[in-house]
Amino acid sequence: MSQNMIFPQLEIPQTLAAGPGPGNTDPRVLDRFASAGMADHMQPDVLRGMIECKQMLRAVMGTSNVYTFGVAGTGWSGLDVMFSAVMPGDKVVVFSNGTFSSIDGLTVRMKAATAEELAADPMNPQPASVITIDVPHGESVTAEIVEKALAEHKPKWAAIAHWETGSGRINDMRGFSDACERHDVMGLVDAVSSLGVEDFRIDDFPGIHGWASCPQKGICCLPLTYAPVSFTDRYIDELKKTGTRTFVHHPILEARHWGIIDGKDVDKGTYHRTHSAYAIAAFHEALRITLQHTISQRAEDYAFHESVLREAVTAMGCDVTSNMTSLVVLNLPESLAGREAELVQHCRADGFGIWPTLSAPVQVRIGILNLLSPVAITEIVTRFGQAMKDLGADVDMDAVQAVLDKHYKTTTTA
Ligand SMILES: *Cc1c(COP(=O)(O)O)cnc(C)c1O
Repeated sequence: MSQNMIFPQLEIPQTLAAGPGPGNTDPRVLDRFASAGMADHMQPDVLRGMIECKQMLRAVMGTSNVYTFGVAGTGWSGLDVMFSAVMPGDKVVVFSNGTFSSIDGLTVRMKAATAEELAADPMNPQPASVITIDVPHGESVTAEIVEKALAEHKPKWAAIAHWETGSGRINDMRGFSDACERHDVMGLVDAVSSLGVEDFRIDDFPGIHGWASCPQKGICCLPLTYAPVSFTDRYIDELKKTGTRTFVHHPILEARHWGIIDGKDVDKGTYHRTHSAYAIAAFHEALRITLQHTISQRAEDYAFHESVLREAVTAMGCDVTSNMTSLVVLNLPESLAGREAELVQHCRADGFGIWPTLSAPVQVRIGILNLLSPVAITEIVTRFGQAMKDLGADVDMDAVQAVLDKHYKTTTTA
């Protein structure tokens, strides 16, 4: 009986990961992951690697915040650490313009709900102290929207997604930070999609006191590693006053293993949990790759290749509604309207991993994370055009090729 429970070894095929995430992990990262020796979480090179990661992360994020480190897990793990300072009864304004910022909103409602409010609707609490500002899918949160809400409600915290990956929209961080400063609100930002893709320094946004990102998008370090987070001293001081009900996701306690104790860098971390030498080695290499490429060059490369992809799908008759540079979110031409899910499924069945939107309206999302070469973009464009033709669309592939030639002609290799 129990022998029947042993399955064959799991094989997962290589696909073209052309979605909103995860991004394509660099072979150098996988090599470090698989080449690290077995060493415990207090072995000197593991601890040194964590300290070096912390320092590189400060350079990647553009910050002198001492409380800058990685949270084991995925983007939501980092966000959970960031939102851990939100306590029951805290007044919070949350801006929501798509799938991910609305999940951030749910997280905030779970944290800010009183025991009574949580018990009243445990999976979807509606605390009186949380105000959600809904902005329609496909639109950005503007400075005016933020200013109006913060002036009216004067909350303790305000939360926003920098880049809302669900609808592919960039929200106004300058406007958000300025309004937070004006109204003495502590801003919290979901930077899961923007870190490592856009050129920005978090220290240029003084109204924002907590930042959380992820391993698998701009940082290209999927092999379950670390979600970058960063907190100002004011955030940490607030947390010291209120405390929070988590051990593992406690920002002050989690920071200890990265050599951050009592607000200061120390030479050697102390135990918080069992970190993996493999994960540390992989994260370390991903940060080295980002810094070698440089944040500004990366941002330029994303902007350039996204503009080519955008122009190519527009030549196919699609209508792009996003403005992020790692992703295009589009409506199909009239003749294919309503067949988005079928088209995406057709592509995915063939190892071409594009995505639909995860909340209404249904649109198609094509991403270019770590696919910054003419060869990669040409393959995405060609496969997408072919898939549309397979479903019966009339695609002028000569016009599409002309777009590619115009931008990539002078570049002969990847
Ligand atoms: C992808 C994403 C998340 C979730 O990240 P996971 O790695 O899936 O946990 C959260 N917020 C935004 C804006 C995202 O793009």
